[in-house]
Amino acid sequence: MLRGLMMDTPLNVSAALEYGAEMHPDGAIVSATIEGGTHRTTYAETLPRVARLAHALKALGVKEGDRVATLAWNGYRHFELYYAVGGIGAVCHTINPRLFPEQLVYIVNHAKDRVLFFDINLAPLIAKMRAHWPKDMIYVAMCDKAHLPAGEGLEGIHAYEDLLAGQPTAYAWPKIDENAGVSLCYTSGTTGEPKGALYSQRSVMLHALFTLTAGMESLKTGRTVLPVVPLFHVNAWGLPYTAPIVGLNLIMPGVKLDGPNLYDLLENENVFSSWGVPTVWMGLLQEIQKRGRKPSMLGEVIIGGSAAPRAMIEAFETMDIGVIHGWGMTEMSPVGTLGVLATKDRGKPLQERIDLKGRQGRRMFGVELKIVDEGGHRLPHDGEASGELFVRGPGIISGYYENADASARAFDADGWFGTGDVAKITPDGYLIIVDRTKDLVKSGGEWISSIDVENAAMAHPGIAACAVIGVPHPKWQERPLMIAVKAAGADPKPEEVMATLEKAIAKWQLPDDIVFVEQLPLTATGKISKLTLRKQFADHPLPDAE
Ligand code: AMP
Repeated sequence: MLRGLMMDTPLNVSAALEYGAEMHPDGAIVSATIEGGTHRTTYAETLPRVARLAHALKALGVKEGDRVATLAWNGYRHFELYYAVGGIGAVCHTINPRLFPEQLVYIVNHAKDRVLFFDINLAPLIAKMRAHWPKDMIYVAMCDKAHLPAGEGLEGIHAYEDLLAGQPTAYAWPKIDENAGVSLCYTSGTTGEPKGALYSQRSVMLHALFTLTAGMESLKTGRTVLPVVPLFHVNAWGLPYTAPIVGLNLIMPGVKLDGPNLYDLLENENVFSSWGVPTVWMGLLQEIQKRGRKPSMLGEVIIGGSAAPRAMIEAFETMDIGVIHGWGMTEMSPVGTLGVLATKDRGKPLQERIDLKGRQGRRMFGVELKIVDEGGHRLPHDGEASGELFVRGPGIISGYYENADASARAFDADGWFGTGDVAKITPDGYLIIVDRTKDLVKSGGEWISSIDVENAAMAHPGIAACAVIGVPHPKWQERPLMIAVKAAGADPKPEEVMATLEKAIAKWQLPDDIVFVEQLPLTATGKISKLTLRKQFADHPLPDAE
């Protein structure tokens, strides 16, 4: 090898905020705070606070590689933690407050967190969980002294602002090995124990740069972006790292993510783009319908985490709000594909473009995709063949954190990571997620894509949300059952929904029954929990099964 003669400068997260503070000093971070009211700051003002926090962490005894946990919503202090913890070479372990208590016990103990920062509305959770977590863990409430929560189980807790007070406003950010861990996120663990994805300084920086190459309108300098996707879930799709690099204004929505609150924030803060899972957009679309107009500046929404129904994409696109439908996983940092249309497709008629946007997008630079059959042989990217999707790239885990068993199962012989998704890929590179392997319905030896059936049902205006699961059937092994929520003020009859479905899918794919419920169970990350539905409807009698 003839070695290149270039500087071996590590990719470190501290560089992103330093750059933002210098080159985009007025870039805003606006937060709907837990204490109430709105907090406004800039990248230039944030850097000295992050330096103070870094000194404070050192004073608490945090060393390189130590895990510092957060249980917090989207807000400026959470953003500061990303950079202070990563900046000193420690690991920011973001935890989803909506996880079940037993998962919270497992995750904190498994990660061996040394310090835990939490938002004050989560104080009751801390008081309840504390006895189950490491005895010597240090707790910091993300507030000033006046708001410090007190009571049983909350003794000896520090106030964030007290820790910062008096600390120096500059920090000589060390050059850290770029392969050092920087943040840790556990999968929500729908099957078995949660598994940790430990991102490195290098991987989060590369992932941030890769997302920038996709050409999304949202990521242009000066744009105002509201991440509904939480900072506690896979680094909010990388936004905290991309934002200071390109100089985005970040609107942090805090804890109130319902349609009306979201609408008001989007309107009042002139938001151009917002990122989140489909369930969030249902609420916003209902609010838009109620008010009769869209938030004035909203020009793009990024939808990922679950399949975006065609009807949802159509609703946004016909309001002139561009939809970018993305796909990814916790194990992928998380973005794998983004629905920025290929150049040749941009001039197509609206309905065709909406069809294309219903696909999960095209691979981002830095992510390789392959689909394989059950024997592990590669399948063609012809838009017809479907198989398990495997991925490879510098933003994808090489193993789970301290979990040799799960790591051993996750990769094929060539080191590709198995996603557990079944997919097709078109010759021009569009990914079509058929289903999760475990969500496919197996009927008489044929597979039915629950996503296809759900998508077709969402075209009925009387359906607000729905999920399709397989239930045992004596003859066909499994048959699809649809569980649906009616749209406000609508009262669709099952036959009417079936009639809509018949237009889009084959007869044998039609659900055997449609059950209406008030609401669908959600996972901790806001996706519809099919696991819960499968348990709930395990004994559901299908009309023709007797
Ligand atoms: P998580 O690691 O919790 O983010 O979940 C990752 C999984 O969510 C993927 O493996 C997919 O099954 C699913 N997923 C994410 N984005 C999409 C999408 N756009 N369409 C369909 N499924 C998706």
